[in-house]
Amino acid sequence: MMKLLIVDDSPDSLEVARIRLAKEGLDIYCADGGRAGLEIARREKPDLILLDVDMPEMSGFDVCRELKADPDLCMIPVLFVTASCTAEDKVRGLDLGAIDYVTKPFDSFELCARVRAALRTKHLQDLLVEYAHIDPLTGLPNRRALFERLEREWARIERHGGRLSFIMADIDRFKEVNDRFGHHIGDKMLHAVAQAIVKQCRELDLPARYGGEEFAVVVPFETAEDAARLAERCRQEIAAIALPCDGETVAVTASFGVAEATGLSSIALLVERADQALYEAKKNGRNIVQTCQNTASDTGKILDEDLTVMSGLADGGGMDFSPNSPNGAAS
Ligand code: GH3
Ligand code: MG
Ligand code: MG
Repeated sequence: MMKLLIVDDSPDSLEVARIRLAKEGLDIYCADGGRAGLEIARREKPDLILLDVDMPEMSGFDVCRELKADPDLCMIPVLFVTASCTAEDKVRGLDLGAIDYVTKPFDSFELCARVRAALRTKHLQDLLVEYAHIDPLTGLPNRRALFERLEREWARIERHGGRLSFIMADIDRFKEVNDRFGHHIGDKMLHAVAQAIVKQCRELDLPARYGGEEFAVVVPFETAEDAARLAERCRQEIAAIALPCDGETVAVTASFGVAEATGLSSIALLVERADQALYEAKKNGRNIVQTCQNTASDTGKILDEDLTVMSGLADGGGMDFSPNSPNGAAS
């Protein structure tokens, strides 16, 4: 159900609008002033705000300005309700970013029709935003969604501290799958790999298609060690895929690089560290999870000793090949 917020300082106007719109099948919220309206808008993220212009403590224009300046709220369409019929006020409202206006006292049919029209536009806008953030082949969030989420998580740790980790994954020798079985099966495999990764992620994690046969996971609130455990579960889930094709089954493996934000100065560096760990995983035989320990300086290159292999090769999944483990090869 779509959400409508009505902001008006007059209880009578609020009630009239609420009753007239009751049949539109909307979840209706009411606020008796600008401050209260902004508070409900932040909490409920309504699909449309009916905003009275003339209010004592804070005018509708002021409320609209505040809404449009807030990145979380600026996409909510605002429909001004004004007693003034001057072109000047209408122009001012529209120029502040409002989608439309109605004049008081409003005709019930016109009000409902304008609300429906505004909500149709909002629905299309929501679809556009959704499509712009989803990879159509796998259904996963795409690279744009990934970086937007990384930016939000980065802002969180800068403000409040806490952990943030990042996983990069790349399917091993995927070109051979395409060459042997065709692009069609390659595409199916990408979808299956995406599902395998999603299956292992928590609600808080953001799995995404980074591009081509590369995937990534934003792992908030977790250390590199915890993220490496998640990567290891993904690695095993992917290795277990058996895609039927002409009586055969197609299988793949993937390599993983993990890095943690702690001590790093930028998102770009976090991604670079995970990518370098992934590169090491490829170099060390593929189908493994490699973690970057972030002990090198923020800006410096990763040193060899900063990388640990968290998990073993294909059949020895879960084995620790780090230099401190019994399996670790002294190099
Ligand atoms: P490595 O283990 O070193 O990663 O080997 P690789 O073959 O996976 O790596 P390479 O970068 O040489 O090849 C990646 C392949 O992924 C080539 C490309 O055709 C395939 N690929 C990328 N995107 C898609 C896609 O959307 N669909 C299909 N079917 N294949 C894709
Ligand atoms: Mg690859
Ligand atoms: Mg690749």
